[in-house]
Parts: sequence; structure tokens; C-alpha cells
Amino acid sequence: MASRRIGGVLLAGSRALSRQHGLTGASAADSQILQRHLQFSRFSYSSAAGGESKKILGVFFAAHEYAKNPEFLGCVENALGIREWLESKGHKYVVTSDKDGPDSELDKELADAHILITTPFHPAYMTKERLAKAKNLELLVTAGVGSDHIDLHAAAEKGLTVSEVTGSNVTSVAEDEVLRILVLVRNFAPGWKQVSEGGWNVAAVVHHAYDLIDRTVGTVGGGRIGQELMKRLKGFGLKEMLYYDRNSLGAEREKELGCKRETDLDTMLSKCDVVVVNTPLTDQTRGLFNKERIAKMKKGAYLVNNARGAIADTEAVKEACESGHLGGYGGDVWNAQPAGKDHPWRYMPNHAMTPHISGTTLDAQKRFAAGTKDMIDRWLKHEAFPEQNYIVREGKLASQYL
Ligand code: NAD
Repeated sequence: MASRRIGGVLLAGSRALSRQHGLTGASAADSQILQRHLQFSRFSYSSAAGGESKKILGVFFAAHEYAKNPEFLGCVENALGIREWLESKGHKYVVTSDKDGPDSELDKELADAHILITTPFHPAYMTKERLAKAKNLELLVTAGVGSDHIDLHAAAEKGLTVSEVTGSNVTSVAEDEVLRILVLVRNFAPGWKQVSEGGWNVAAVVHHAYDLIDRTVGTVGGGRIGQELMKRLKGFGLKEMLYYDRNSLGAEREKELGCKRETDLDTMLSKCDVVVVNTPLTDQTRGLFNKERIAKMKKGAYLVNNARGAIADTEAVKEACESGHLGGYGGDVWNAQPAGKDHPWRYMPNHAMTPHISGTTLDAQKRFAAGTKDMIDRWLKHEAFPEQNYIVREGKLASQYL
């Protein structure tokens, strides 16, 4: 294994050294980031300051050179900024970005971990089989919102607790949804691409560009993000703002948001120029936007989905964008992440797709890092979490996941 020296630290193969210091997977050993990590690692597992020592395992994406920004908490290098705190209490904190395949670091480290931290942005798919192998596991914390990457029924059967930092990034996502609606309706992306490549062709953009004013927008899901979106769209002079949800927001809240509830999804879809998905991925919502449902939408309507990729059928969306039945599709979530190079949503016409970014701005990271720390702190002190953070508790799933 090749050795190299970075900033005075001899790296005996970045992977091995990183692993030794609880920073496993990817090329996490780079430069100052590793030094900062080593500095924090001086507390040993055996020096627990009283109480039980726990092994906490975190799975985050690797940020490499971008991790130099200390505000960038949500990556494997900075690991939510909780290493010093956990280690000072005598706990062992191992982090990795290596999450897929049977020989992943995640699988190796999971065997004796007590607490698992994952994020929806680099989802560690916690299948029933994986959970079965995690003999010591007690708690799974999602640093963010959306725990569908965990088999929640299997977690409930095993008596595990699953929690999210509920509300931590809902404004981040709602802002992004406003952006994506406008990117699609105004046909922004082709214009940006054109000038970046040295071109100039007004017609090629405006033949498919509209205003949002006087249009009807509907959100499927009127929970936290749905309501934040409706609040933000109030100033756009829409014809109607509609929502479809199992629960009514009540007359007062509807008045405040300027919205109207539709109790039948297809009826709402037939009225909307723009539809935004804001439900969790559950057994009921998986594949909700299939060929038949998309056919119920107005011809040329736009679909925005920052909720979960698997709520929309990959082929049906692609075909609808190609045929023009959908005026465009935008979102940051994919049915498996990272998305494969050949994923059709990368190449279909009129898309506004990005990697999973909307809920992980630096501001959102700060909030979900603080929320994760708070829950781990409470767990270690045997204290309860804020009620809305429980996703699986004592064998039961939270209502939004049923
Ligand atoms: P929330 O729990 O506040 O709201 C979800 C709403 O969906 C609830 O009002 C619920 O009643 C409704 N719902 C659930 N199943 C339904 C069904 N079958 N039919 C009708 N309504 C149904 O959640 P939220 O904070 O608004 O987040 C929603 C989802 O957005 C998350 O579960 C997550 O998947 C996704 N999300 C994505 C990002 C991102 O970065 N892209 C970030 C945060 C959340």
C-alpha cells in the first residue's frame, strides 16, 4: 500500500490510516481535514468519563477538497462536527462514505455499532438483512428528513428506535421547489446552457417559456414542506393554490396560506399547471406518479418532485417528457442514490434535475447537525426526543409513514 505525507502526517495508505482513526471509506485522509480529525481523535475509547461507552457509526458522503469549509458539517470529513463531543464522553465515533455492496465499510462497522447516523443525501440502505446483522443496534438517527432508506417495518419488528430531525430542512426544500418551478416554467436551463456554450438563440428558449402568474399549482402533501411552499407561492398571483393530503389543514390555516384542499388526487391533477410532490415515500406513495396518473395531469403541466425519486415511475416520467405530455420534470431525488450514469432522467428533455441538494444547504446542515447531537445526547441520558422526531418508536411507525 502506497504511503504519502500530507501536512506532516505520514499516510500509510489513506484508507488504512483513515480506518484506524475511525474515518473510513473514500479518500477521506486528505490534508488539513485529516489533521483536524487526528487532533479530535486523541480521546480514546477506553477513557469513558463514566457511563456506558457506545459505538456510533455515521454514513455521509465524502466532500474531499470542499470539506475545508468548517461550516460544511454534513460530509464524512466533518461528520456533523460532533466527534470531539462524542469522544470526550468516551464514545467511539466511526464514519464512512462506503455504504454499498456486501464488503462495504458500513457492513463491517455496523456489526457492533449501537447508534447509526445516516442521511438521505447519501442514503445507507438499511434493509432487513442489514438490520439483522447489527446485533448491538439501538437507535437510527436520520440527519435530515425522510427515513425511507431504512426498512421501517423491519426496524419496528426489531424494537429499534428511528428518528429524524423533523423540520430541520423544510424551508430549504420549499425554497428549492420555488426555484425548480420557475426553472421549468421559464425554461431557464436551456438558456443558461446556451450562453455557457457560447450560443445566442432567444427563440430556442422562449418557444417553451411561460409566466407563473394566473396558473394553478397543486401540492401532493400539505405537511411541513407543502405548507412552506404554499406560503412562498402566495405572492405569485396564482389562479389557485391547491393541496391534496390525507389531513385537512383546517379553514383558518387554508385562509392564511390562500389554498384549497382537494380530496381527490386525480381531480386536483386535472386542474394543475404545476404539481409538486411533498409526501414521504411509503407503501402508498411508491410509484404514485405512474403512466396512468401522469395521464390524468393536464397536457404540458410540470411535475416537481423533491420528495423521493421512487414516488415517480422512472420510465413513465421519461416518456411523458419526451411526448410533451409533461412540460418538464424537476427534482433532486432519484430512485437510487447516487444515480447511475445511464439514468434516463439525466438525459430526458425539459428536465431540471440535480443531485440530492435541496435539503442540505449549509444552513440546513447546521440545523440537522444540532438536532442529531441533541437526540444522541438525550438517548445517552435516557431522555425522550421531541415527539415529532420519532419515526419508529416501540414497534410503531409515525403516522406520516403509514
Ligand atoms: P411532513 O410529515 O411534515 O408532511 C408529509 C405530509 O404528507 C403529511 O401531511 C401527510 O399527511 C402527507 N401524506 C403522507 N402520506 C400520504 C398519502 N398517502 N396521501 C396523502 N397525503 C399523504 O413531511 P415534510 O417535512 O413535509 O417532508 C415530506 C417529505 O419530503 C419527506 O418525507 C422526505 O421524503 C422529503 N424531503 C426531501 C428533502 C430533500 O432534500 N429533497 C428534504 C426534506 C424532506
